[in-house]
Order: sequence, then structure tokens, then C-alpha cells
Amino acid sequence: MARALVTGGSRGIGAAICRALAVAGHDVVVNYRGNRDAAEAVVAAIAAAGGKAETACFDVSDAEAVQAGLAALDYAGRPFAILVNNAGIVADAPFPALERDAWTSVTRTTLDGFYNVTQPLVMPMVRGKWGRIVNISSVSGVVGNRGQTNYSAAKAGLIGATRSLAQELAKRNITVNAVAPGLIDTDMVRDVPPEAVQMIPMRRMGRPDEVASLVAYLCSDAAAYITGQVIGINGGLV
Ligand code: NDP
Repeated sequence: MARALVTGGSRGIGAAICRALAVAGHDVVVNYRGNRDAAEAVVAAIAAAGGKAETACFDVSDAEAVQAGLAALDYAGRPFAILVNNAGIVADAPFPALERDAWTSVTRTTLDGFYNVTQPLVMPMVRGKWGRIVNISSVSGVVGNRGQTNYSAAKAGLIGATRSLAQELAKRNITVNAVAPGLIDTDMVRDVPPEAVQMIPMRRMGRPDEVASLVAYLCSDAAAYITGQVIGINGGLV
């Protein structure tokens, strides 16, 4: 099976994606930024279930750190056929109060992160003649959300990148898709008020493993004809 890299794989949705890809038989690299214990717990759980995984610590928004991290993984010698760009952060504020740092940290993590990680991995993936790239966007990137101008801009940008790269790579047997989750029960949304859940037609948050199942499907052979798409998973929110 394939070698897979999941950015932000230590917690939440990314951790569930790592587990799902390992169950599908892939050899998973669990990237994280700071939370080593959580990343190692994901690797241990995968190993206990009979799968293969290792951790890789680098900040996706830091170009030099990514280069060094990918080189240490020997990405050219042992190419990744699966890449899930999942690392993301929020720094919410109404736009008049949105400080520059909240703008740059969020856009850099999502957009520079996409470039820093994806660009070096693409040519080795092309040479391998098969690939799957899944970018984790958000419902905020599709329809916007009050207090998330920075996050919506970043996640909408990621959708644009997905559509263009899909067109470039389609004839190479590489699919590129975006997944746009609604509210998913992770650390990221622990401050979301209960009223927000009542706005969801299903009246509940999604689970990380529900997103992971979709991502694992998009990374499978069965999804070979799906590319350039933005697939919502949001309990009927939009
Ligand atoms: P969490 O906050 O639970 O986890 C974030 C993960 O990303 C952690 O593994 C964290 O690593 C990692 N990370 C953050 N910044 C960086 C960085 N600069 N470099 C490398 N890794 C980084 O988030 P979720 O699981 O909720 O979110 C995952 C993705 O899904 C994000 O892109 C998010 O925007 C998106 N999403 C989430 C929704 C939700 O409702 N939860 C809804 C829609 C989209 P560490 O553990 O080391 O801090």
C-alpha cells in the first residue's frame, strides 16, 4: 500500500485520518507541531492495531522547517503517494478587531502550509504514477462565517488551490480534492456555544472518524474518478 503524510495528525480530525489510513493498510507519517505526546499516542494506537506509523515534527507554516522535516523523511527516495493537508488553526475575531497576527498566522498555516508541504511532494508523486491529495477546508471557506474572515479566506484559498492543482495533475493519475467539514467535535471547537449546535439540522456535531471515513474513501482506488471537488460533511448545515 501507499506511504501517507497527514499534517496535523496528532489530534482531532487529523488523528482520526491517520488511524483510518492505517486501517486501509497505508504506512502513515503523523505530522505535528508541538504536541509530541499526542502524536506518539496516535502512532502507538496504530501499532497496537497492527498498522504502521511514525511521527514527524515540523511547523507547516515554516518553509525551512518543512524542507528539513521532509528531507529527514527521505521524501524523494520513499515518495508519499497520499498527502492530507489537515493542519489548521483558528484565531477568531470580528473583522474590526482582527489583529495582523491573527490574519497572518491563520493564512500562513493553511495556505503557506499547503504550498510548503505539497510542492516538494508532487514531482515524486508524479513519478510514482499514482497519488491522492486531500485538503481539509471548511464550511467557513464555502459560505463564510462571522468572526472568521481570516479563516474563511484561508480555507476558500485552499479550495482554489485544490481546483487548479486537480486540473494540473488529473492526467497523472493523481486526484486532488477538498473536504469541507462543518462543526466537528475536537479541541478546535471547544468554545463553540451550544446554540451553534442547534443550528445544525442534525442537532449534533460531527465526529472526527466520520470525516476520516470520507478522507480514506477519497484516498482509495474506488475514488479514482473524483477530482477537483469540494465535499461537504456538515450534518446538513449548508
Ligand atoms: P485540532 O485543533 O483538534 O488539531 C489541530 C492539529 O493541527 C493538531 O494536530 C496540531 O498539532 C496541528 N497543527 C496546527 N498547526 C500546525 C502547524 N503549523 N504545523 C503542523 N501541525 C499543526 O483541529 P481539528 O482536528 O479540529 O482540525 C483539523 C483541520 O480541520 C483543520 O484544518 C481545521 O481548520 C479543519 N476543520 C475543523 C473543523 C472543526 O469543527 N473541528 C471544521 C472545519 C474544518 P499539535 O497537536 O502539535 O498542536
